[in-house]
Amino acid sequence: MQNEVPWVGVVWFSQAIPRHSFVMWLIVNRKLKTQDVMQAWSASGNANFNLMCCSLCTSGPDSHEHLFFECGYASEIWNEVKVKADMGEISNQWQAIFDYLVGIANSKKASHVIAKLLVSAAAYFVWDERNRRLFTTKRRSKAQLVDVIFSTVRLKLQTMRFRRSVQTERVLRDWSLPRGLILADDDNG
Ligand SMILES: [Zn+2]
Repeated sequence: MQNEVPWVGVVWFSQAIPRHSFVMWLIVNRKLKTQDVMQAWSASGNANFNLMCCSLCTSGPDSHEHLFFECGYASEIWNEVKVKADMGEISNQWQAIFDYLVGIANSKKASHVIAKLLVSAAAYFVWDERNRRLFTTKRRSKAQLVDVIFSTVRLKLQTMRFRRSVQTERVLRDWSLPRGLILADDDNG
């Protein structure tokens, strides 16, 4: 489609998890109600807004850049996720991550689909944890958050089928997935 924006395939793709895509769409369009936005609304002087700080690291008001993934808590999540996503060279700055994702947006390679699933899951669960800490007394450690990100993506991978290739062998090994997920040769079309 000619008018399609370049990030469509970053946010919406056939293997995507809908609630993760929705958060990605909000991030890409800068529509999350982060604290920097709330402070700008209250420029007229509600003092409470000036006391807001990131619920993950408490260093200052959160923002899109801060949460994805410059925040001290979120950057440690990102450091684990990016290795699994084959994005080890990519910094923890959203623009760099987004630019990389746009480059692979329409790729059908398993590793690229997995990278998109991982970034979406990381963004979703960091935002979820940020809200959980703001509005409840519950909190998850960094290790627990990384676990839930990986196990959610792994569950998704178990519903997918892969073409037989060296790369597929590696993906199945990396994720401890059964070989039954490889398409039979006569399904390869
Ligand atoms: Zn923070």
